Formats: sequence, C-alpha cells, structure tokens
Amino acid sequence: MTSICAIIVAAGRGSRTGLDGPKQYAKLGGRCVLTQTLQAFEACSIVSAIQVVIHCDDQKNYEAASAGLKKLLPPVVGGATRQASVHAGLNATQTYEHVLIHDAARPFVDEATLRRVAEALNSHQGALPALPVVDSLKRLKKTGVESVDRHNLFTAQTPQGFHHKAITDAHEAAVAEGRHDFTDDAALAQWAGIPVALVEGARTNIKLTTAQDMEDAMKNAAAALPDIRVGHGYDTHILVAGDHVTLCGVKIPHTHSLHGHSDADVGLHALTDALLATIGDGDIGDHFPPSDSKWRGAASDQFLSHAAKLVRKKNGQINHVDVTLLCEEPKIGPHKAAMRDKISQIIKISADRVSVKATTNERVGFIGRQEGIVALATATVVFAP
Ligand code: MG
Repeated sequence: MTSICAIIVAAGRGSRTGLDGPKQYAKLGGRCVLTQTLQAFEACSIVSAIQVVIHCDDQKNYEAASAGLKKLLPPVVGGATRQASVHAGLNATQTYEHVLIHDAARPFVDEATLRRVAEALNSHQGALPALPVVDSLKRLKKTGVESVDRHNLFTAQTPQGFHHKAITDAHEAAVAEGRHDFTDDAALAQWAGIPVALVEGARTNIKLTTAQDMEDAMKNAAAALPDIRVGHGYDTHILVAGDHVTLCGVKIPHTHSLHGHSDADVGLHALTDALLATIGDGDIGDHFPPSDSKWRGAASDQFLSHAAKLVRKKNGQINHVDVTLLCEEPKIGPHKAAMRDKISQIIKISADRVSVKATTNERVGFIGRQEGIVALATATVVFAP
C-alpha cells in the first residue's frame, strides 16, 4: 500500500479573523480548530502519518492542541510564506510516497474528500478537491462592473495531494527561480508542469478566514447536538445451594449462590451490557461466550473493564452508571458503598458518578421466592463529535 503523509500547514498568523491569537488555535465548541483538523486525518485509515508545520511561537499551543494523537511526527517550524512552510513539511517527510497538503484552518474536511484526493493519486501526480462556482461572477473595472463567465470555473480546496518527489522537485525549482508567491500547491505544481486532477470537494470544507467565518463556525459548534447515548442492560441468574453471592464485584456471605457463566455477578453483567449498548457492540455473550470454558468461574470485573475500554476506544466518556439489584436476600444496603467503589475502580470514573440501588420484589414472582436475582443497569456516555 502506498504510504500517505498529511502535511498540515499551521504556521500562519491569521490576521483577517480579528482574533487575539492565530485562528488555528481558537476554540470551536471546546476543541481548537487545529485539533479538529488533526482528528479528521487521525481518523482516516489511509493516512499513515501527520506532519504539522507550526510557527516558532506556537510550541506550547501546538502541544495542547495535539495531545493524545498517535499519527503525529515531531512538528517542524515553517517559513515566512505558506509556500516555505509547505517546503519545510516536505523536507521532513521524504520517506512517504504521497502527501496530502492541508490548511489547518479547514477543520471540517471529511473522510470522503480525503479518500477522493488519495485515490486520484493512483492515476495522477497531483489532485485537488474543488467545487464548481455557483454564484454569478463579476469583475470590478474602472468603467463599471463586468460579468465573468463561470463556466469551467472552480474554487480550490485542500487537501491537495501529490506524489512526494514530484511536488518536492517543484518546490525546489520555484525557490531556485526566486518564486515565493504561490498561495497553493496546485498553482505551484501547474507552474512546474505537473498535471493536477480535479476531484469533487465538499461545501462543508470551508476555510476559516474572516472574523465572520469564525463567528459562524462557533455558532454551529455551540448549536451542534451533543452525542449523548444511554445504554440499558438486564441480567438474571438463578440461586442454587451455596455460601456466597458476588454482586457488583463484592463477595457477600449468603445461604445460596448465584449459578451461571463466570461468577454470575448479575450487577456487573447488566452494566457490561449497558456499556456495550452505547456503542451498539452486541452483548456480553458475544464478547465472552458462555460456551468458552475459560470464562467458567471467571471474575466479572474483566468483562466490565473490557466494555469500558471498547467505549473509550470509540471516544466515549462514561459520565454515569446506575445499577439496580432486585432481590429479597441478602440485604444490599450494608454493601452499597463498597459496590460503588468497586465499579468506579473497574471503569475508572469517580464514585459519585456510580449509583447502586436495590429493592426487594415484595415476595412475589421468582425473585420473591428467592429463585433468582435480577439486575438492571443504565450507562450514560458522551461521545466526542
Ligand atoms: Mg449473566
């Protein structure tokens, strides 16, 4: 497979936005612009590495904006112009075959656009996403306004993709000829005689340029619905002759034991299902089949911690969990605090975000006859957009 490196140009000062600092470090809905841009490339499986070109004053901002991302190469410092900054990024990424050169100030780029550009590089040395001009175009002249035919006119976006060697040679040729004024790489490529293919861009892939752009993007981020999901879980196990039950990870002496797969901890099983439900990833039986003998008698905390890991892998933040145990005996009250602590340790959230409740079944039904114990659980998880 071709190795693809993204070069994110983030060295600009963004003087047209009216913000205090550079726009790529401004916050949109809690995340800074550069973080959102980087996350788009991080999430795209065809991109092997990300090279960010930063301004020498932005080291601290960059570290905060890029924390936790895994595909990043060490940042390089850009030059006096965009062209020089891209050139610095190219020099640092020579081992990659293809590059996708992208403006940090286009945080809304989507995966489909990245794939279209990358795909075009299989048959072309250069490719850029572009959109046909839909507004009528006018040119202001000294003598008045003149209409311009918009047929075959496109607006250029990024990422612009190239074969690494071809665009690096073009940059070197431009410097050798004293050209430092190219505002995008497609223009530079064209100047150097590299044919560049047009692929479809996206209306949402706007470049944040003016103060109005920033204000609109901030409003959209604030208006975006948070991705909050509530998962539900249910479990029951029968009571058989024995001397203890394990409920929510706490071993309680009892006249009976719960029978079943693993240690039959209905509380943790219901909660495991609730967490898996928030990512639509089946249930505990799919991940830990009862038919597999290795789970016989197993402690159920490993099922729950596995589910919590899967949720976090999908960028979910576990905000709250709630377990209700339904049984006549044993009395749960004396053990509730220990159960909350146990769950909070297993799924790594604070105990004040963990609820454990219990009720009897008023002596009716199978729970009332003490033939089994039931647990119900919910998990509330917030996912990063
Ligand atoms: Mg179970």
